[in-house]
Amino acid sequence: LASNELQQSPTVIEVGDVRIGGNEIVVMAGPCAIENENDFVETAKKVRNAGAKILRGGAFKPRSSPYAFQGLEEDGLKIMVAGREATGLKLVTEVVDTRDVELVNKYTDIFQIGARNMQNFRLLSEVGMTSKPVLLKRGLSATIEEWLMAAEYIIAEGNHNVILCERGIRTFETMTRNTLDLSAIPAIKEVSHLPIVVDPSHATGNWKFVPALAKGAVATGADGLIIEVHPNPPCALCDGPQSLRPEKFETLMQELRLVAQSV
Ligand code: PEP
Ligand code: MN
Repeated sequence: LASNELQQSPTVIEVGDVRIGGNEIVVMAGPCAIENENDFVETAKKVRNAGAKILRGGAFKPRSSPYAFQGLEEDGLKIMVAGREATGLKLVTEVVDTRDVELVNKYTDIFQIGARNMQNFRLLSEVGMTSKPVLLKRGLSATIEEWLMAAEYIIAEGNHNVILCERGIRTFETMTRNTLDLSAIPAIKEVSHLPIVVDPSHATGNWKFVPALAKGAVATGADGLIIEVHPNPPCALCDGPQSLRPEKFETLMQELRLVAQSV
């Protein structure tokens, strides 16, 4: 169902008036984790003014350590809705457990399935039974084939609105958090009709590298980007080192327009 053999035309996913997979590059931005209402709403306004169309923020965080900040859970989801009300932006947030799908569904516009859960097949089926679009991140060590089969689990339940997200894969390299596989973009376009967005933040783990890879992703044919933005990265509760300050994000958005015009 994810393959080009059954459907030749690209899938365009509509979230309100935002179209993902159409001609426009859709940018999703916001902090890794929702920390408090004031910061979240202020960041939301800044990313909207810079041209983002979708607001990101984690309320359930899949942290490597059980002692790290795990997210504000339902309180975070409520803050997220305040961000939507203040800006009109649509929301994307991660769901990490089948038990939370119903709850998250009440608040979000797009479900995010994180890299660590790409092959959590019960979770994939569960979001497949909803009618909300799903941003499916590529697993840490997943092949493109395995990633598309994960998408298949969602679509097989009747939800065709899957957005693939390349967020870097594990390699032997340690200078960057992950290695961004830009070749996944043309490779996916060759075999699938699903839209693909790129997450240069988790791919690099370093805000200094984010603009170069974001531009590279647009030049290589990505349908959009998801970028972490935080008002004060050194104090972020999660992923500060890879988060752009709002001013840097705004500059990047201007540069991206020039890249998009020339491809
Ligand atoms: C995130 O988007 O904050 C996240 C945890 O991403 P990933 O699943 O790609 O590591
Ligand atoms: Mn993050």
